[in-house]
Amino acid sequence: MTDTTPDTPPRSATFTTHSPATGTALAEHPVDGPQRIAHAVAQARKVQADWAALPASRRRDQLLRWKRALASDLDTVARTIAEETGKPPGDAALEVVLTLEHLGWAARNAERVLRRRRVGTGVFTVHQRASLVHRPLGVVGVIGPWNYPCYTPMGSIGYALAAGNAVVFKPSELTPGTGVLLAELFDAAVPAHAGLLATVTGAAATGEALARSGVDKLAFTGSPGTARKVMAVCAETLTPFLAECGGKDAVIVTADADLDAAADAIVWGALSNAGQTCAGVERVYAVREIHEALCERVVARAGKLRPGAESGAAYGPMTLPGQIGIVERHVTGAVSSGARALLGGPESIQAPYVTPVVLSDVPENAAAMTEETFGPVVAINAVADVDEAVSRANDSRYSLGAAVFCRNRRAGAAIAARLRAGAVSVNSVLGFAAVPALPFGGSQDSGFGRIHGEEGLRAFTSVQSTTVQRFTPPIALTSFEVPAAARERAVRLARALHRRR
Ligand code: NAD
Repeated sequence: MTDTTPDTPPRSATFTTHSPATGTALAEHPVDGPQRIAHAVAQARKVQADWAALPASRRRDQLLRWKRALASDLDTVARTIAEETGKPPGDAALEVVLTLEHLGWAARNAERVLRRRRVGTGVFTVHQRASLVHRPLGVVGVIGPWNYPCYTPMGSIGYALAAGNAVVFKPSELTPGTGVLLAELFDAAVPAHAGLLATVTGAAATGEALARSGVDKLAFTGSPGTARKVMAVCAETLTPFLAECGGKDAVIVTADADLDAAADAIVWGALSNAGQTCAGVERVYAVREIHEALCERVVARAGKLRPGAESGAAYGPMTLPGQIGIVERHVTGAVSSGARALLGGPESIQAPYVTPVVLSDVPENAAAMTEETFGPVVAINAVADVDEAVSRANDSRYSLGAAVFCRNRRAGAAIAARLRAGAVSVNSVLGFAAVPALPFGGSQDSGFGRIHGEEGLRAFTSVQSTTVQRFTPPIALTSFEVPAAARERAVRLARALHRRR
């Protein structure tokens, strides 16, 4: 948090971030506790009042200034992301580009989506003019993950700011530098509203303090286990909560699909960012006729890819050291329960790297099929037909994203409509994530609520409904003065109308 006013509570403890690739220390960051967070929220609340009072067009212009600053400083932001996560610089740059797309959309569309609009009235309310408006909540707390430390939290931050709120952001303890930089760039680009986006740093205790701080909504992105804990804290004060959690995304490949295109997309969806993508590809259901041909193509492509820190590496190390044990458990568990390792296997785990693993015939009850692996591992199972593929894809406690590969686009869209996922791409993977107008989010263990798009703007507002009486109604039903006979006539009229409609 950048605030330095005299009453700012002091910071004592710090923590150090490390490069996941080399283990070298990167930076020291404060461990912010309840006092610092209370201060950040109070400061943000002061700044928010002026921000919310601005005409929407002024807020748009200010946010676009910040966007331009981020674009100008894209290299610095990408370098910070790459250092903290270990992902290749090109991937980090792409993450910033996606962030800019979303921020621009949120800034440009907030006025249209949230402005006051008239709604129709009924037979007995013709005397009213009815309208609704979406108003900012106040201060939104955002708790972010480490895998996309800029793009993912910006799905909440950018949209919450565009809707007229202030934001107090707690980035992951693995990627605090990216969060601090976002707030610094905001303050530099929009000095008149400095502090509207404040970053606080620390681990679980800092996140918990933010959840307890009296923010008007908490937008959380992370694992379902942590979401449950944070939601329990929010429940104490009825703080509204939005949860963007993990995934176990399935891809369905039909008999007539373009197998080269499907293999190319599956390999990227499963292995990019070392498989550490909430809506990355983890399960593939391919109809039996083309299963072997698809596996061959996936293995041929994945076999050429190597993780590393040098330029030309396809992806980087596992960012969270503890995740390597989970990946190992899933791969060894699958192989020991009868899965075929078509590429790699338990020997692929070479911390901090994991080389690509392609599995087939994985028992559906293996952890590799039921739990989020979050590593460069993909399981490709054969199914009898599309019906079985849909039923297996839907048989998961996660439901975030999915993809369908099918030559006939209309048939692909029909399969997509049968999937329980919050977002589905036909003939691509993760196509939805790059379209800012499309809401993003899941259900069950993938969380609830939506970020991005119109729903993502409305998520950070409360709606106020208003009626303005235009004239005195002939029968005033909300008065003790109405004669009983008039009331009865109104009921008779209503009954007659509703019987016919
Ligand atoms: P995590 O659950 O370990 O941590 C997420 C955030 O919560 C971190 O900032 C962490 O410090 C904080 N936190 C931890 N304990 C807390 C507590 N008790 N109270 C308050 N805050 C607490 O998740 P992670 O390892 O950082 O991220 C990976 C997970 O995030 C994966 O499951 C991934 O699928 C998911 N994810 C989801 C999306 C999405 O949009 N659905 C996007 C990216 C990542």
